[in-house]
This record gives sequence, structure tokens and C-alpha cells, in this order.
Amino acid sequence: MSEHNGGCHCGKVKFTAKDPIISVACNCQRCRKLSGSLHLGVIFSEENFSVDGELSSYEYVGGSGNKVNSKFCGICGCKIYSKAELFEGLVSVKLGVLDDALDFPPQMEVFTNYKLNWLKDNGCIKESFEEAAVAERLTSILENL
Ligand SMILES: [Zn+2]
Ligand SMILES: [Zn+2]
Repeated sequence: MSEHNGGCHCGKVKFTAKDPIISVACNCQRCRKLSGSLHLGVIFSEENFSVDGELSSYEYVGGSGNKVNSKFCGICGCKIYSKAELFEGLVSVKLGVLDDALDFPPQMEVFTNYKLNWLKDNGCIKESFEEAAVAERLTSILENL
């Protein structure tokens, strides 16, 4: 079992997460805008994730047409995690708020149709998906982990 800590910039929100499932880079324009930069998320089971501190939330419709709830610190604005209706029981923790972010190179990338054309990886990405059928393939990968 591995345990990981993290938190926001101002320090009001702290969290602990155990046993990462997969690290994912999403290249869609929605995630890019919401993150303010590049989106990288580490997926954990909701039951292995606990937060201390007050979070604000913002709900929007994700790429699959399902709702996504983004949780962030209302003081410093750091995005902490998001929860997608489609992926029941899972949370996607933003890579940059994990204290040990270096330990989570992305293993999978989605929405490569929108990938910034200068962006390269170091060979860590094993699976890449274009926009088409991303949700289904993502679901099958997570179900088979
Ligand atoms: Zn904060
Ligand atoms: Zn995205």
C-alpha cells in the first residue's frame, strides 16, 4: 500500500490518498481551460481519499456528456480533485497538488486530437486515445485494472 499527501497552495486544504490506480493526461480544451494549463490527474478510489479543509465546487458537463464536479480551495483557487458521474467511486486528483508529483508520470493520455503539438512525453505513456470512444475505452481500462 502506498500513501500520498498533498494540499492547496494556501494550506487550508490537505488530503491523503492511498493506492493510485492510474495517472492520466487529458488533452481536451475543457480540461486545459479548467486547469489553466495542462491537465494531469491521478485516479484513486474514493474510499482511499480523504480531505481535510473546506472545498468549493463547480459542476460542468464533461466530454462524455455526463456531469463532472470539480473541487477547489475557495481561498487560493487550487484545483484539488474532480469526480465524474461516469466513473462512480473514483476521484481524479490533480497531479500538481500531490506532494510527490514526480512519482506519477502519466501512463495514459486521452483526447489526443486536441494535444498541443509541441508536447512530448518521455515514453511513459502506454495508451493514447483520440476523441472518439474515449469514455468507453477508459471505462474498460479501469474495469480491467
Ligand atoms: Zn488554498
Ligand atoms: Zn479533458
